[in-house]
Order: sequence, then C-alpha cells, then structure tokens
Amino acid sequence: MSDTSTAAPPKPSPVVTPDMAPFWAAARRHELVVQRCTACGSLRFPARELCRQCLGREAVWQPVSGRGKVFSFVVMHRANHPAFAAEVPYTVALVELEEGVRLAAQLTDIPPQKVTIGMPVEVWWDPVAAEVVVPRFRPRQP
Ligand code: ZN
Repeated sequence: MSDTSTAAPPKPSPVVTPDMAPFWAAARRHELVVQRCTACGSLRFPARELCRQCLGREAVWQPVSGRGKVFSFVVMHRANHPAFAAEVPYTVALVELEEGVRLAAQLTDIPPQKVTIGMPVEVWWDPVAAEVVVPRFRPRQP
C-alpha cells in the first residue's frame, strides 16, 4: 500500500441508472420522490417500467413525506467497502413510508441492538460527495 493516509477512502457513489436519475436529482434538493402511475395513481419505488396494479407505463415523480416505519432491517457487521470500515456494525433498514412504498437505506442515530420493527423513522440527507446526496433514516418521535 502506497497510501500512508489514515483517512478512510471516499465512499462509493450510488450507481445512477437513467430511470432513477430523477430520484437522485431530487435527492440533491433534499427531496424524497417516488413514481406515481399516471393511469391509476398507485406509487412505485424503485422506478419500474410497468405499474404492478394496471401495467401502465407512464409515471411521474412526486414528493413523499420522508416519514415511515421500519418494515425490516439487517445489521452489517462486515464492511463491504473500506470506506465503511469505521462504521460497522451499522443498520440497513427497509423503510415503509407513510405513502405505502418501501425503500432500503442506512438507519443512523441509534445503536443496531435498539432498532425494532415498526419504529417510526424519518429521512435525512447525507452529502457523501460533490453532487451526491443520499437518503438515510433516523428515529423520530411518533
Ligand atoms: Zn397503474
């Protein structure tokens, strides 16, 4: 290793696929958005080509509350990338938003052993790199 720095390497940025680009653009504005089917109004996340309810293709992106509850979670005990080595163990939660859609994100501000299914959480925005802001969740008062 030629790098003598003790600082952690930068975290890898999310891979931005074309269909998810509007999500990451909104994240830079600290806005959480999901797709809404223009035919039947049902919400979908992550972006999908077809609506599960009506098989419609057209969708728009709409803001959601950023409030939800822990639907499920896992505790990461091993860093899959050196940038996360100092953070293990940490929690990745599947959050069910008040609007009914679910997304996976890191759950912060609480030790992993205190996380419970159903606990209320809210989004916050972590600027991990220039032009890259990722959603994370933390506990909130019910
Ligand atoms: Zn639909």
